[in-house]
Amino acid sequence: MFPNLTIGIFGGGQLGRMLAMAARAMDYRTVSLDPAEDCPASQVSDWHVAADYDDLSAAEELAERSDVVTYEFENVDATAIERIAELKPVFPSPSVLRVCQDREIEKKSLNEMGIGVPEFRVVRNGNEAVDAVSEIGVPVVMKTTRWGYDGKGQSVVRDVHDARSAFEGLEGANKVPVIVEGFVDFEMEVSVVCARDLSGEMRTFPVSENVHVGGILDTSIVPARCSDTVKAEAEQVAMRIANGLDVVGLIAVEMFVTRDGEVLVNELAPRPHNSGHYTIEGCVTSQFEQLARIMVGMPIGDVSLRSPTVMVNLLGDVWESTGGAPDWASVLRMSGAHLHLYGKSSYRVGRKMGHITVSGDTVEEALAVAVAARDAAART
Ligand code: AMP
Repeated sequence: MFPNLTIGIFGGGQLGRMLAMAARAMDYRTVSLDPAEDCPASQVSDWHVAADYDDLSAAEELAERSDVVTYEFENVDATAIERIAELKPVFPSPSVLRVCQDREIEKKSLNEMGIGVPEFRVVRNGNEAVDAVSEIGVPVVMKTTRWGYDGKGQSVVRDVHDARSAFEGLEGANKVPVIVEGFVDFEMEVSVVCARDLSGEMRTFPVSENVHVGGILDTSIVPARCSDTVKAEAEQVAMRIANGLDVVGLIAVEMFVTRDGEVLVNELAPRPHNSGHYTIEGCVTSQFEQLARIMVGMPIGDVSLRSPTVMVNLLGDVWESTGGAPDWASVLRMSGAHLHLYGKSSYRVGRKMGHITVSGDTVEEALAVAVAARDAAART
Protein backbone atom coordinates (compact mmCIF):
# COMPACT_ATOMS: atom_id res chain seq x y z
CA MET A 1 0.00 0.00 0.00
CA PHE A 2 1.28 3.48 -0.85
CA PRO A 3 1.97 5.86 1.99
CA ASN A 4 -0.62 8.58 2.07
CA LEU A 5 1.57 11.35 0.64
CA THR A 6 0.48 14.80 -0.49
CA ILE A 7 2.03 16.53 -3.50
CA GLY A 8 2.08 20.33 -3.37
CA ILE A 9 1.76 22.18 -6.66
CA PHE A 10 2.83 25.82 -6.85
CA GLY A 11 0.64 27.24 -9.63
CA GLY A 12 -2.88 26.31 -10.62
CA GLY A 13 -2.88 26.05 -14.42
CA GLN A 14 -3.46 23.11 -16.73
CA LEU A 15 -0.08 21.55 -15.97
CA GLY A 16 -0.98 21.46 -12.28
CA ARG A 17 -4.40 20.07 -13.15
CA MET A 18 -3.01 17.19 -15.22
CA LEU A 19 -0.36 16.46 -12.57
CA ALA A 20 -3.06 16.36 -9.87
CA MET A 21 -5.16 13.99 -11.98
CA ALA A 22 -2.22 11.63 -12.53
CA ALA A 23 -1.26 11.76 -8.85
CA ARG A 24 -4.86 11.05 -7.79
CA ALA A 25 -4.99 8.01 -10.06
CA MET A 26 -2.28 6.50 -7.83
CA ASP A 27 -4.17 7.76 -4.72
CA TYR A 28 -1.78 10.53 -3.81
CA ARG A 29 -3.34 13.72 -2.47
CA THR A 30 -2.59 17.11 -4.00
CA VAL A 31 -2.73 20.71 -2.81
CA SER A 32 -2.43 23.60 -5.25
CA LEU A 33 -1.57 27.28 -4.78
CA ASP A 34 -2.84 29.93 -7.17
CA PRO A 35 -4.40 33.38 -6.78
CA ALA A 36 -7.66 32.17 -8.37
CA GLU A 37 -10.02 30.13 -6.20
CA ASP A 38 -11.49 28.41 -9.26
CA CYS A 39 -8.49 27.52 -11.42
CA PRO A 40 -7.72 24.43 -13.54
CA ALA A 41 -5.74 22.72 -10.75
CA SER A 42 -8.01 23.63 -7.82
CA GLN A 43 -10.94 21.92 -9.56
CA VAL A 44 -9.21 18.55 -9.17
CA SER A 45 -6.92 19.02 -6.14
CA ASP A 46 -7.79 17.85 -2.66
CA TRP A 47 -7.00 21.27 -1.20
CA HIS A 48 -6.30 24.70 -2.61
CA VAL A 49 -4.52 27.73 -1.20
CA ALA A 50 -5.86 30.86 -2.91
CA ALA A 51 -3.08 33.42 -2.60
CA ASP A 52 -0.64 35.49 -4.59
CA TYR A 53 2.59 33.80 -5.69
CA ASP A 54 4.69 36.20 -3.62
CA ASP A 55 2.67 35.64 -0.42
CA LEU A 56 5.25 33.91 1.78
CA SER A 57 2.80 32.83 4.47
CA ALA A 58 0.67 31.14 1.78
CA ALA A 59 3.80 29.44 0.45
CA GLU A 60 4.46 28.17 3.98
CA GLU A 61 0.89 26.89 4.20
CA LEU A 62 1.40 24.98 0.94
CA ALA A 63 4.59 23.48 2.38
CA GLU A 64 2.87 22.54 5.65
CA ARG A 65 0.09 20.69 3.85
CA SER A 66 2.51 18.89 1.48
CA ASP A 67 5.10 16.15 1.80
CA VAL A 68 6.85 17.22 -1.38
CA VAL A 69 6.35 20.23 -3.66
CA THR A 70 6.79 21.16 -7.32
CA TYR A 71 5.98 24.23 -9.42
CA GLU A 72 4.14 24.24 -12.71
CA PHE A 73 5.56 27.39 -14.30
CA GLU A 74 8.85 29.25 -14.01
CA ASN A 75 7.67 32.84 -14.25
CA VAL A 76 7.43 33.15 -10.49
CA ASP A 77 9.45 34.92 -7.86
CA ALA A 78 11.87 32.22 -6.75
CA THR A 79 11.84 33.57 -3.18
CA ALA A 80 8.57 31.79 -2.36
CA ILE A 81 9.87 28.52 -3.81
CA GLU A 82 13.08 28.91 -1.82
CA ARG A 83 11.06 29.42 1.36
CA ILE A 84 9.12 26.23 0.62
CA ALA A 85 12.38 24.37 0.03
CA GLU A 86 13.46 25.25 3.58
CA LEU A 87 10.44 23.36 4.86
CA LYS A 88 9.88 20.47 2.40
CA PRO A 89 11.69 18.88 -0.54
CA VAL A 90 11.06 20.80 -3.78
CA PHE A 91 11.60 19.05 -7.12
CA PRO A 92 13.26 20.25 -9.32
CA SER A 93 15.32 22.24 -6.80
CA PRO A 94 15.05 26.05 -6.67
CA SER A 95 18.54 26.30 -8.18
CA VAL A 96 17.20 24.66 -11.37
CA LEU A 97 14.32 27.15 -11.35
CA ARG A 98 16.78 30.06 -11.04
CA VAL A 99 18.60 28.90 -14.18
CA CYS A 100 15.46 28.32 -16.22
CA GLN A 101 13.67 31.53 -15.36
CA ASP A 102 16.36 33.78 -16.76
CA ARG A 103 17.42 33.39 -20.39
CA GLU A 104 20.84 34.92 -19.70
CA ILE A 105 21.70 32.46 -16.90
CA GLU A 106 20.14 29.63 -18.92
CA LYS A 107 22.21 30.31 -22.04
CA LYS A 108 25.40 30.79 -20.04
CA SER A 109 24.82 27.49 -18.19
CA LEU A 110 24.25 25.74 -21.52
CA ASN A 111 27.48 27.27 -22.85
CA GLU A 112 29.34 25.97 -19.81
CA MET A 113 27.96 22.49 -20.47
CA GLY A 114 29.25 22.74 -24.06
CA ILE A 115 25.72 22.66 -25.48
CA GLY A 116 24.99 24.59 -28.67
CA VAL A 117 22.66 27.60 -28.57
CA PRO A 118 21.93 30.20 -31.26
CA GLU A 119 24.48 33.05 -31.32
CA PHE A 120 23.44 35.67 -28.76
CA ARG A 121 24.39 38.87 -26.93
CA VAL A 122 22.95 40.32 -23.72
CA VAL A 123 22.06 44.02 -24.07
CA ARG A 124 20.86 46.64 -21.59
CA ASN A 125 20.13 49.71 -23.72
CA GLY A 126 19.40 50.88 -27.26
CA ASN A 127 23.08 51.45 -28.16
CA GLU A 128 24.07 47.96 -27.08
CA ALA A 129 21.08 46.58 -29.01
CA VAL A 130 22.23 48.32 -32.23
CA ASP A 131 25.78 46.99 -31.76
CA ALA A 132 24.56 43.46 -31.13
CA VAL A 133 22.30 43.44 -34.18
CA SER A 134 25.17 44.73 -36.37
CA GLU A 135 27.52 42.06 -35.01
CA ILE A 136 25.14 39.12 -35.35
CA GLY A 137 23.53 40.32 -38.59
CA VAL A 138 19.82 40.41 -39.37
CA PRO A 139 17.40 38.81 -38.92
CA VAL A 140 17.59 38.53 -35.13
CA VAL A 141 15.11 37.83 -32.38
CA MET A 142 15.03 40.08 -29.31
CA LYS A 143 13.75 38.48 -26.12
CA THR A 144 13.53 39.80 -22.59
CA THR A 145 15.66 37.68 -20.26
CA ARG A 146 12.71 37.14 -17.92
CA TRP A 147 8.93 36.96 -17.78
CA GLY A 148 8.38 36.11 -21.44
CA TYR A 149 6.42 33.03 -22.50
CA ASP A 150 4.48 31.88 -25.55
CA GLY A 151 6.30 34.44 -27.70
CA LYS A 152 5.49 37.35 -25.36
CA GLY A 153 8.30 39.86 -24.78
CA GLN A 154 9.81 38.97 -28.18
CA SER A 155 10.30 40.69 -31.49
CA VAL A 156 11.97 39.80 -34.78
CA VAL A 157 14.23 42.51 -36.23
CA ARG A 158 14.87 42.34 -39.98
CA ASP A 159 16.66 45.67 -40.49
CA VAL A 160 19.49 47.01 -38.33
CA HIS A 161 17.86 50.45 -38.47
CA ASP A 162 14.93 49.04 -36.51
CA ALA A 163 17.17 47.71 -33.72
CA ARG A 164 16.78 50.64 -31.34
CA SER A 165 13.03 51.04 -31.74
CA ALA A 166 12.54 47.28 -31.42
CA PHE A 167 14.53 47.28 -28.17
CA GLU A 168 12.61 50.25 -26.81
CA GLY A 169 9.28 48.77 -27.81
CA LEU A 170 9.94 45.43 -26.13
CA GLU A 171 7.64 44.95 -23.18
CA GLY A 172 9.79 44.64 -20.06
CA ALA A 173 13.05 45.82 -21.69
CA ASN A 174 13.26 48.73 -19.24
CA LYS A 175 13.22 46.31 -16.29
CA VAL A 176 15.41 43.38 -17.33
CA PRO A 177 18.24 42.82 -19.85
CA VAL A 178 17.40 41.64 -23.35
CA ILE A 179 18.85 38.79 -25.39
CA VAL A 180 19.60 39.53 -29.03
CA GLU A 181 19.73 36.17 -30.76
CA GLY A 182 20.48 35.13 -34.32
CA PHE A 183 17.35 34.02 -36.16
CA VAL A 184 17.69 30.29 -36.83
CA ASP A 185 16.49 29.21 -40.26
CA PHE A 186 15.47 25.88 -38.78
CA GLU A 187 14.40 22.72 -40.55
CA MET A 188 12.24 21.78 -37.61
CA GLU A 189 11.64 22.51 -33.93
CA VAL A 190 11.76 19.55 -31.55
CA SER A 191 11.57 19.01 -27.82
CA VAL A 192 12.48 16.30 -25.38
CA VAL A 193 11.08 15.85 -21.87
CA CYS A 194 13.71 14.15 -19.73
CA ALA A 195 12.80 12.51 -16.41
CA ARG A 196 15.50 12.07 -13.78
CA ASP A 197 15.12 10.65 -10.28
CA LEU A 198 16.97 11.19 -7.01
CA SER A 199 19.43 8.39 -7.81
CA GLY A 200 20.25 9.99 -11.18
CA GLU A 201 18.37 7.42 -13.28
CA MET A 202 17.08 9.08 -16.46
CA ARG A 203 14.56 8.38 -19.21
CA THR A 204 13.74 10.62 -22.15
CA PHE A 205 10.25 10.65 -23.62
CA PRO A 206 10.19 10.26 -27.43
CA VAL A 207 11.27 13.35 -29.37
CA SER A 208 8.37 15.58 -30.33
CA GLU A 209 8.32 17.65 -33.53
CA ASN A 210 6.70 20.96 -32.69
CA VAL A 211 4.98 23.51 -34.88
CA HIS A 212 4.53 26.98 -33.38
CA VAL A 213 2.12 29.58 -34.69
CA GLY A 214 2.65 33.17 -33.56
CA GLY A 215 5.15 31.99 -30.91
CA ILE A 216 2.63 29.58 -29.34
CA LEU A 217 2.82 25.81 -29.65
CA ASP A 218 0.20 24.65 -32.15
CA THR A 219 0.98 21.00 -32.93
CA SER A 220 3.21 18.23 -31.54
CA ILE A 221 3.97 15.31 -33.83
CA VAL A 222 5.47 12.08 -32.48
CA PRO A 223 7.61 10.42 -33.68
CA ALA A 224 9.30 13.57 -35.00
CA ARG A 225 9.86 13.34 -38.75
CA CYS A 226 13.66 13.72 -38.55
CA SER A 227 16.55 11.27 -38.80
CA ASP A 228 17.41 8.81 -36.03
CA THR A 229 20.75 10.61 -35.69
CA VAL A 230 19.02 13.92 -34.94
CA LYS A 231 16.66 12.18 -32.50
CA ALA A 232 19.56 10.54 -30.69
CA GLU A 233 21.40 13.86 -30.52
CA ALA A 234 18.30 15.65 -29.13
CA GLU A 235 17.92 12.97 -26.44
CA GLN A 236 21.61 13.16 -25.55
CA VAL A 237 21.41 16.94 -25.22
CA ALA A 238 18.39 16.67 -22.92
CA MET A 239 20.13 14.08 -20.71
CA ARG A 240 23.32 16.12 -20.51
CA ILE A 241 21.28 19.11 -19.37
CA ALA A 242 19.30 17.05 -16.82
CA ASN A 243 22.57 15.73 -15.41
CA GLY A 244 24.40 19.04 -15.65
CA LEU A 245 21.69 20.88 -13.69
CA ASP A 246 21.14 17.91 -11.34
CA VAL A 247 17.43 17.91 -12.14
CA VAL A 248 15.19 15.72 -10.01
CA GLY A 249 11.81 15.63 -11.75
CA LEU A 250 11.30 16.70 -15.34
CA ILE A 251 13.11 19.05 -17.65
CA ALA A 252 11.73 19.94 -21.07
CA VAL A 253 14.28 21.00 -23.65
CA GLU A 254 13.11 22.91 -26.73
CA MET A 255 15.52 22.74 -29.65
CA PHE A 256 15.99 23.94 -33.21
CA VAL A 257 17.19 21.45 -35.80
CA THR A 258 19.17 23.42 -38.38
CA ARG A 259 19.15 22.61 -42.10
CA ASP A 260 22.48 20.80 -41.70
CA GLY A 261 21.20 18.64 -38.86
CA GLU A 262 22.72 20.57 -35.95
CA VAL A 263 20.73 20.69 -32.72
CA LEU A 264 20.64 24.07 -30.91
CA VAL A 265 18.84 24.57 -27.61
CA ASN A 266 16.25 27.33 -27.54
CA GLU A 267 14.68 27.06 -24.12
CA LEU A 268 14.42 24.96 -20.95
CA ALA A 269 11.41 24.36 -18.71
CA PRO A 270 11.87 22.46 -15.42
CA ARG A 271 8.37 20.97 -15.43
CA PRO A 272 5.84 19.09 -17.55
CA HIS A 273 5.59 20.75 -20.96
CA ASN A 274 2.86 21.48 -23.46
CA SER A 275 4.81 19.51 -26.05
CA GLY A 276 4.65 16.51 -23.70
CA HIS A 277 0.85 16.39 -23.43
CA TYR A 278 0.87 13.71 -26.12
CA THR A 279 2.40 11.35 -23.52
CA ILE A 280 -0.95 11.01 -21.71
CA GLU A 281 -2.37 8.76 -24.41
CA GLY A 282 0.79 8.28 -26.50
CA CYS A 283 3.18 6.74 -23.97
CA VAL A 284 3.09 3.91 -21.47
CA THR A 285 3.68 6.47 -18.68
CA SER A 286 2.63 10.11 -19.06
CA GLN A 287 4.90 13.03 -18.21
CA PHE A 288 2.55 13.84 -15.31
CA GLU A 289 2.56 10.35 -13.82
CA GLN A 290 6.33 10.32 -14.24
CA LEU A 291 6.76 13.51 -12.24
CA ALA A 292 4.44 12.24 -9.50
CA ARG A 293 6.38 8.95 -9.32
CA ILE A 294 9.72 10.73 -9.02
CA MET A 295 8.43 13.16 -6.39
CA VAL A 296 7.24 10.39 -4.09
CA GLY A 297 10.31 8.22 -4.64
CA MET A 298 8.62 5.55 -6.75
CA PRO A 299 10.35 3.89 -9.74
CA ILE A 300 10.51 5.80 -13.05
CA GLY A 301 7.95 4.48 -15.54
CA ASP A 302 8.32 3.12 -19.05
CA VAL A 303 8.39 6.00 -21.54
CA SER A 304 7.83 3.94 -24.70
CA LEU A 305 5.54 5.30 -27.39
CA ARG A 306 2.42 3.17 -27.76
CA SER A 307 1.69 4.37 -31.31
CA PRO A 308 2.24 7.47 -33.46
CA THR A 309 0.50 10.37 -31.72
CA VAL A 310 -0.31 13.99 -32.53
CA MET A 311 -1.48 16.73 -30.18
CA VAL A 312 -3.10 19.97 -31.30
CA ASN A 313 -3.68 22.82 -28.90
CA LEU A 314 -7.10 24.40 -28.47
CA LEU A 315 -6.65 28.12 -27.99
CA GLY A 316 -9.37 30.60 -27.09
CA ASP A 317 -9.58 31.32 -30.83
CA VAL A 318 -11.72 28.18 -31.22
CA TRP A 319 -14.22 29.58 -28.70
CA GLU A 320 -14.06 33.03 -30.25
CA SER A 321 -14.91 31.72 -33.72
CA THR A 322 -17.88 29.73 -32.42
CA GLY A 323 -19.36 32.31 -30.08
CA GLY A 324 -18.13 30.34 -27.08
CA ALA A 325 -19.63 27.01 -28.15
CA PRO A 326 -17.14 24.75 -29.97
CA ASP A 327 -18.59 21.58 -31.46
CA TRP A 328 -17.15 18.92 -29.16
CA ALA A 329 -19.46 16.20 -30.43
CA SER A 330 -17.78 16.42 -33.84
CA VAL A 331 -14.39 16.00 -32.19
CA LEU A 332 -15.45 13.01 -30.14
CA ARG A 333 -17.08 11.38 -33.15
CA MET A 334 -13.64 10.99 -34.69
CA SER A 335 -12.01 7.68 -34.00
CA GLY A 336 -8.97 7.94 -31.77
CA ALA A 337 -9.55 11.58 -30.76
CA HIS A 338 -9.19 12.44 -27.06
CA LEU A 339 -10.44 15.77 -25.81
CA HIS A 340 -8.83 17.58 -22.87
CA LEU A 341 -10.42 20.79 -21.55
CA TYR A 342 -8.76 22.73 -18.78
CA GLY A 343 -11.79 24.15 -16.98
CA LYS A 344 -10.95 27.81 -17.60
CA SER A 345 -13.99 29.94 -16.99
CA SER A 346 -13.28 32.54 -19.67
CA TYR A 347 -11.63 32.40 -23.06
CA ARG A 348 -9.50 34.86 -24.95
CA VAL A 349 -7.67 34.62 -28.25
CA GLY A 350 -4.28 32.95 -27.70
CA ARG A 351 -5.21 31.49 -24.29
CA LYS A 352 -4.55 27.77 -23.91
CA MET A 353 -7.96 26.25 -23.15
CA GLY A 354 -7.46 22.57 -23.97
CA HIS A 355 -5.97 20.14 -26.45
CA ILE A 356 -6.86 17.18 -28.64
CA THR A 357 -4.68 14.08 -28.89
CA VAL A 358 -5.00 11.52 -31.65
CA SER A 359 -3.09 8.25 -31.99
CA GLY A 360 -3.05 6.33 -35.25
CA ASP A 361 -1.26 3.64 -37.23
CA THR A 362 0.91 6.27 -38.90
CA VAL A 363 1.93 9.76 -37.90
CA GLU A 364 0.37 11.15 -41.10
CA GLU A 365 -2.98 9.58 -40.25
CA ALA A 366 -2.86 10.87 -36.66
CA LEU A 367 -1.95 14.35 -37.90
CA ALA A 368 -4.78 14.42 -40.45
CA VAL A 369 -7.38 13.34 -37.88
CA ALA A 370 -6.10 15.77 -35.22
CA VAL A 371 -6.25 18.73 -37.59
CA ALA A 372 -9.68 17.69 -38.86
CA ALA A 373 -10.93 17.31 -35.29
CA ARG A 374 -9.86 20.82 -34.34
CA ASP A 375 -11.33 22.24 -37.55
CA ALA A 376 -14.60 20.47 -36.76
CA ALA A 377 -14.66 21.99 -33.27
CA ALA A 378 -14.17 25.47 -34.71
CA ARG A 379 -16.77 25.16 -37.47
CA THR A 380 -19.85 27.30 -37.02
P1 AMP B 1 10.61 30.99 -27.22
O1 AMP B 1 9.70 31.76 -26.34
O2 AMP B 1 12.05 31.40 -27.10
O3 AMP B 1 10.42 29.52 -27.08
O4 AMP B 1 10.17 31.34 -28.72
C1 AMP B 1 8.89 31.01 -29.23
C2 AMP B 1 9.02 30.59 -30.68
O5 AMP B 1 9.54 31.67 -31.48
C3 AMP B 1 9.98 29.45 -30.90
O6 AMP B 1 9.42 28.20 -30.63
C4 AMP B 1 10.31 29.64 -32.38
O7 AMP B 1 9.26 29.17 -33.18
C5 AMP B 1 10.41 31.15 -32.49
N1 AMP B 1 11.81 31.55 -32.23
C6 AMP B 1 12.34 31.92 -31.03
N2 AMP B 1 13.64 32.20 -31.15
C7 AMP B 1 13.99 31.98 -32.42
C8 AMP B 1 15.21 32.07 -33.17
N3 AMP B 1 16.36 32.46 -32.60
N4 AMP B 1 15.18 31.75 -34.49
C9 AMP B 1 14.03 31.37 -35.08
N5 AMP B 1 12.84 31.28 -34.46
C10 AMP B 1 12.80 31.57 -33.14
